[in-house]
Amino acid sequence: MEAFAQSEALVPASSVIDGKAYAAGLMSRVKTEVAEIKGRLNTVPGLAVILVGEDPASSVYVASKRRETQAAGMNSFEHRLPETTSQIVLLDLVKELNGDPRVHGILVQLPLPGHLDADAVIEAIDPAKDVDGFHVINAGRLTVGQNALVPCTPLGCLMLLKDRLGDLTGRHAVVVGRSNIVGKPMAQLLLQEDCTVTIAHRHSRDLANLTRIADIVVVAVGRPEMVRGDWIKPGATVIDVGINRVVRDGKSRLVGDVAFAEMGHAHAVTPVPGGVGPMTIGCLLSNTLEAFRRAQDREETSAMEIS
Ligand code: NAD
Repeated sequence: MEAFAQSEALVPASSVIDGKAYAAGLMSRVKTEVAEIKGRLNTVPGLAVILVGEDPASSVYVASKRRETQAAGMNSFEHRLPETTSQIVLLDLVKELNGDPRVHGILVQLPLPGHLDADAVIEAIDPAKDVDGFHVINAGRLTVGQNALVPCTPLGCLMLLKDRLGDLTGRHAVVVGRSNIVGKPMAQLLLQEDCTVTIAHRHSRDLANLTRIADIVVVAVGRPEMVRGDWIKPGATVIDVGINRVVRDGKSRLVGDVAFAEMGHAHAVTPVPGGVGPMTIGCLLSNTLEAFRRAQDREETSAMEIS
């Protein structure tokens, strides 16, 4: 509760969606299942993370992914490559990991240094191991409603929404932001839940009038506190994906894309930090577990076909 203590008077605690607590529960369920798999099959899911270069923020993310992967009882394979790594060397590593049976998930930490083609690297990942869900095959599967590996952040948003609201059928959802990693897959997931979905972006007109009629508003734009209280109708649920560092009163702090303190009339709202952020890594591990399960199913099916 510390993270939103400042605004408690304006946003009742019961309206605050505690992503940290939900993510802890998700991690614990993943850990239990990994332990059960280890007992039954004497193997565990493995996640390989590739980091190219020395970007300090990326380095921190990769270290925290390693810690959480190990804490869940999974194998963590970390590949730190120098800034000068060529496209060919990177693609060779991806190819090697595609063929490594101990690796069930592959994540390439973005952004890559400017001389590397991130799209080509993502396309080189085996879609069955693409636990970030960024490969076009997974994006396409999500769009047509097939069994995709779904990008972690929107997946985490959906889990929080369903946990708070239950059945989402028929609700009007407005997604602000249309990036390939958050906005678009979020809209697809909400469509699959039978919501009526509007996608807004930087060229949308009268944005406040669009969000004002929504039951659910998901914001992923990267603009500090852009969405104000009067953009949201009473009783709506607001999911804030944005992470923006701002300086207030001489102090650096994180804020979302939503003016949290103005959301007292919402049914529920995610804080920043402590809302969507903690869900992303939980969903990464849950996707790795899912990729492992599917690999097991494929092995069993092919063993049955041979026998
Ligand atoms: P992006 O820059 O790729 O996309 C931003 C989107 O916002 C674009 O579609 C753009 O059209 C739209 N947009 C920009 N200005 C707008 C405006 N004034 N009105 C309406 N739409 C506008 O960003 P992204 O990768 O989707 O990330 C968005 C935010 O979410 C960033 O703050 C990022 O740090 C954060 N993020 C958080 C997590 C997490 O784990 N919590 C994960 C990914 C991204």
